[in-house]
Amino acid sequence: MRACGYNANVGFHECSGPHLRTEVRGTHNPMDVATQLRFLKGAGPARAARLAKLGIETLGDLLEHYPRAYLDRTHLTPLARLVPGGEATSVGVVRSVSLRRTRGGMRNVHAILEDESGLVECVWFNQPYLERVLKRGRRILVSGPVELFRRLQFKNPEFEILEPEGTANGRHTGGQECTDQPVEALEQSGDAAAPGIVPVYPLTAGVSQKVMRKLVGSALDALMPLLHEFMPASILSRRILIPWADAHREIHNPSSRENMETARRRIAFQELFDLQLLLAISRRMHKRPQTAPPLRCEGNLVQHLLEDLPFELTAAQRRVIEQIRQDISRDCPMHRLLEGDVGSGKTLVALAGALLAVEAGFQVALMAPTEILVSQHGRTFERLCEPLGVRVATFTGGLPASRARELRSALEDGSIAIALGTHALIQESIAFHRLGLVIVDEQHRFGVTQRARLQGKGRTPHTLVMSATPIPRTLALTLFGDLDLSVLDEKPPGFISPKTHLVPEERYEEMLSYISGELAGGAQVYFVCPLIEASEALDLRAATDLYARLIAHAALRQHRGALLHGRMKQEEKDQVMNAFVAGEVGFLVSTTVIEVGVDVANASLMVIEHPERFGLSQLHQLRGRVGRGRQPAHLFLVGRSGIGEEAMRRIEILMRESDGFRIAEEDLRQRGPGDFFGVRQSGLPPLKLANPIADPQLLEEAREEAFHLVDDLDRSELVGTALWRRLEARFGERIALYEVG
Ligand code: ADP
Ligand code: MG
Repeated sequence: MRACGYNANVGFHECSGPHLRTEVRGTHNPMDVATQLRFLKGAGPARAARLAKLGIETLGDLLEHYPRAYLDRTHLTPLARLVPGGEATSVGVVRSVSLRRTRGGMRNVHAILEDESGLVECVWFNQPYLERVLKRGRRILVSGPVELFRRLQFKNPEFEILEPEGTANGRHTGGQECTDQPVEALEQSGDAAAPGIVPVYPLTAGVSQKVMRKLVGSALDALMPLLHEFMPASILSRRILIPWADAHREIHNPSSRENMETARRRIAFQELFDLQLLLAISRRMHKRPQTAPPLRCEGNLVQHLLEDLPFELTAAQRRVIEQIRQDISRDCPMHRLLEGDVGSGKTLVALAGALLAVEAGFQVALMAPTEILVSQHGRTFERLCEPLGVRVATFTGGLPASRARELRSALEDGSIAIALGTHALIQESIAFHRLGLVIVDEQHRFGVTQRARLQGKGRTPHTLVMSATPIPRTLALTLFGDLDLSVLDEKPPGFISPKTHLVPEERYEEMLSYISGELAGGAQVYFVCPLIEASEALDLRAATDLYARLIAHAALRQHRGALLHGRMKQEEKDQVMNAFVAGEVGFLVSTTVIEVGVDVANASLMVIEHPERFGLSQLHQLRGRVGRGRQPAHLFLVGRSGIGEEAMRRIEILMRESDGFRIAEEDLRQRGPGDFFGVRQSGLPPLKLANPIADPQLLEEAREEAFHLVDDLDRSELVGTALWRRLEARFGERIALYEVG
C-alpha cells in the first residue's frame, strides 16, 4: 500500500544515491514475485488452494517458503555402521511396520529397515498415518538422530520414499512434469538417483514433498532473472554476504553444506536488517525536532492514591513509575514500552502515570484492545480516582447516544481528565482539550497507525505502551528498538502461581465433580474454549456447545453458569462480566475474549479445552487469569487423544515453568521467533530463518548497518531505491509516513 502519489512509479525509478544502485526492472518477463500461483506450471487451481493454507499465494511466497530441514544424501551410512549419539542418513527397505499405543496415549509408528549390512528400527511419535505410508517392501531414505533406546533407532527421522512397493531397482527418469495430478501418482515417481542435499519443506495436506520441491523449483526458475541485488555493495562486502539470487538458489538447492549455510546467513541477515531499518527510520522520525509538553508535578495525587491502596507497591512498580515521571517532565516526547508478566501489576503503573499527567494539568487517553478489558479498567480507575476528585470516562460501544455526546463535550472542555476506550477512542468525533499522555494496554493488539492516530489527538503527547507478552531483551530490541524499555520483573507478594494439570479424557468427569465441590465452597471457574483457526463462527459454536453441555451436566446443574463471547452486544458482555465479578455467576464459559487483561481475584480455577490449539505464550496468558487472589489456583488442560508431540512439549513447559519470560524464551528456542511474533499480532512479516536468540551476533551486525545507513543517507537518497521498494512491500503503511514527511 502506498500512501502518496509522489512515488507511484518507483518500480522504474532510477536511484541517485551515492552507493545504492538500482536496476531498472524489465517489462518483458510476464512473471514476477507478485504473480499468482495458479499461473505457475504445475500449480493449478486445486493445488493453489491447498498452498494458500500455508500462506503461499504468489511466486514470491513460494520463493520464500524455505526448507525446514535437509536430507544429506552425500554421505549414506550402511545400517550396520550406525552409532548412537549423532545424526545419520541411511537407505533401507521397510521390513515391517506397526502402530503402538504408549501408556501416555501416544500412537507411535515403528518400522524396521534393512539393507545388505543389517537392520535398524525407526520410530515416529504420534503420526499414526505413517503406518499407511511406510508400506512393507518400500525403499526409503531416512535422516535424523540415531539413539540407543533398548536397541538402536532413528528417532523421528525425516524420510523419503525412494521406490514404491514392488518396483524393481531400476532408475526413474526424474524429469516428470509436475501437473495437478493426484498426489499418489507423483509420490510414485521416486527420484532415487538424485544425489546431494535435498530440501525438506513444511507441507500441507494434499501437497507432497516431491510436489513442493517441483513447485519451488519452477518458481525459482521463473524468478531467478528478476532477483536483482538491492543491498548496497559496501554492506555485502563488509559483512561477507552473498548475492540475493545466489542465496535463494543455494537455500533451495544447496551445492554443499557450507553453501547452504552461507545462503541461510544472507537471508537471515536480510530479515533482521529490514526490521532494523524500519526501526532506524522510525527513530529518525521521532527525533525530528518535536517538543512535547513537559508534565511536571509534585506527585500529590499519586501519593494519595497509594495511601488509599490496601497494599504496598512492589519495588519494580515504584521504579517504573519514577522512570515515567522523569520522562514526561521533559519536553522530548516519551516513547516507553512497559513489559511485565501477567499479574505483575501494570494497570496500577498506568494509573499512577495518568495521575502524574493529570496533576500537571493535562488529559490522559488509555486504549485497550477489548471492550471487556476497557470496562474493567474503567471500574478500577473510577473507583480509585473518584476519591481524588479526578473525573474518568469510559467510552464503550454500549453507551446511549445522548450520554456519549455528553461525555465527548466534557472531554473537549477538559472536565474529564482520563478517557478510556477501545479503538473507539480514535474516532473523528472524539477530541481532547489538552491531551498530554497516551497509554496503550496490550499494545501488540493494535497496529502502529491506530497508535499514531491516538497520539494525533494531542500535540505530541507522551506515550506509554504496555505488553504482557514478555519478550527477552534481545528481541525487544529487534522489534521495538525505537522505544525505551521498562520491565516489571517482580510479582506482587502473595501471588500464587497456579498448578497446572493435564486431565486425560477418562478423568474429565472426576474433574467436573471436583470443580462442583469448589464452586459450592465459593470458588469461581473459567472454561475456555478452543481457538479454531481463522473462524470466529466456529469458536463461537464450540463455546455455545460446551455451555449447553455444562449447564445440563449433573455436577454443575445446581451452579449458575454464563456464556461470554466476542459476538455479544456490549451491554450483554458487561452484564455477564459484572455478574461474574460480583460472584453471582459461578462458572463462565468463554471464547478467548478473556485472554488478555481480565482480572477477577476470586476466580481460582480454569479449564482449557483442546489446549493443543493454543500457543505456549497464549496458554500462559490465559493461565494468568487465575491465581490473582489468595486461594490456591488450578489450571486443567483437557488432554483428549490426538494431542501431538509438539503440543505435548508446550504443555510440559507450561507445567514446569511459571515465569512468563522463561516461557517465552523456551517457546522461542523451540519454535524459532518466526511464529512467535505471528504476523497478525505484530503486523510484521515473520522471521523465517533469522533467530536473534540463537544468533545475537547477526542481529547486532544487521542493526549496526541499518542504523548507519539511515544516519548517513539523506531521506531522498533512500526513498525510491530498490531497497526502499522492498521495505514498502514488506512494511506498507509503516514506512509510507516517512516517504511523505
Ligand atoms: P497485569 O500486569 O497482568 O495487567 P494487573 O494490573 O491486572 O496485572 O494486576 C493484577 C492484580 O494485582 C490486580 O488485582 C491488582 O490490583 C493487584 N496488584 C497490583 N499491584 C499490586 C501490589 N503491589 N501488591 C498487591 N497486589 C497488587
Ligand atoms: Mg493488564
